[in-house]
Amino acid sequence: MKKQTKAIHTPYPARDAFGALSMPVYHTCAYEFDNADDMADAFCGRVIVPDYSRVMNPTVMHLEDKVKALTGAKDVIAFTSGMAAISNALMAVAETGKNIVTSRHLFGNTFSLITSTLKRLGVEARLCDLTNLEEVKKAVDHNTCCLFLEILTNPQMEVADLKALSEIAHAKGAPLFADTTMIPFTEFSARELGVDVEIVSSTKYLSGGATSLGGLIIDYGTAEGFNRRIRFELLFNLGGYMTPHAAYMQTLGLETLDVRYRRQAESALRLARMLRTLPKIKKVNYTGLEDNPFHEISRRQFGDTAGAMITIDLEDEAACKRFINSLKLIKRATNLFDNRTLAIHPASTIFGNFTPEERRDMDVLDTTIRLSVGLEDVDDLFEDIAQALND
Ligand SMILES: *Cc1c(COP(=O)(O)O)cnc(C)c1O
Repeated sequence: MKKQTKAIHTPYPARDAFGALSMPVYHTCAYEFDNADDMADAFCGRVIVPDYSRVMNPTVMHLEDKVKALTGAKDVIAFTSGMAAISNALMAVAETGKNIVTSRHLFGNTFSLITSTLKRLGVEARLCDLTNLEEVKKAVDHNTCCLFLEILTNPQMEVADLKALSEIAHAKGAPLFADTTMIPFTEFSARELGVDVEIVSSTKYLSGGATSLGGLIIDYGTAEGFNRRIRFELLFNLGGYMTPHAAYMQTLGLETLDVRYRRQAESALRLARMLRTLPKIKKVNYTGLEDNPFHEISRRQFGDTAGAMITIDLEDEAACKRFINSLKLIKRATNLFDNRTLAIHPASTIFGNFTPEERRDMDVLDTTIRLSVGLEDVDDLFEDIAQALND
């Protein structure tokens, strides 16, 4: 079966008693067993059947199975949010005295998780420029518990060379963890690029228009001891497993992911081209544009689409605020890949509690607006942006 067919037809863990065509939402906390031995086998992991919904649930398992079928991963585990997936993945490898090699170009909470939360537990954060392989080589050593990156950084729009980074990490026995939220796993194979563990905020493209929060750990089975730690320790001890209701909505979202994503990425490219004609926009940053510095590497790694996030730079912060306030159709909101187009000024919101110096180090500029392109007609989006710029 091809990917889009698998997204629809991956079978259920077991046939529902009524033959329900869509996966039922199993809103149950616990499961009944026929006898003591079956119960013991389930609890000790000798037989994989649900015993308690903090760690396993048929509706969530169905979403996990679909993602497994689409990625060829060894295991997929669904969490309550992208951050729950990221924190579980990092907690599975982090130890006092070890280090995480990563970038300053990270999603705000991931940056804070690594540089504050994990730092308090004695894990060193080694921040480097991941596009500078020599710098990364110097940072990675035998105490590196993982090399962590985002495949397309936000809002800087940087794309690093995954294969080269995986080789540097693997040479020191460290796994490569990649947050692939920005380009769906249906578009490219992270495994082929040397990624050991892929992490996704399924709140974004997957949820089918921002219906629910979710996160996925897509484990290719190549990071030593990782799966055991997550499945049989952290899932139990940290309690971040996805809820059945969210899994139901995200499974529906996954079924239409391909059409929605393709349309949104196509609109983003068209809009990026159109925005370049507006003189008040100083810069349009989108890796789908042929002259973008990361265009070639993005194409090589992720294929012919470049996601649905664009950033634009205006004269100054005041111009950004005026622009945001003047939008009529585009929504003033955070989040990415909703069905509706969203605009935000990252420096004063997502990164608003960092100091100006910290923002400068992260290349989060006061002049940048982030747009997440939705499913509206591109001409209407362009018209709204053009009128907001001239207000
Ligand atoms: C949104 C996002 C996250 C966090 O995901 P939540 O589902 O909001 O917890 C992590 N990484 C990236 C790249 C994101 O865009």
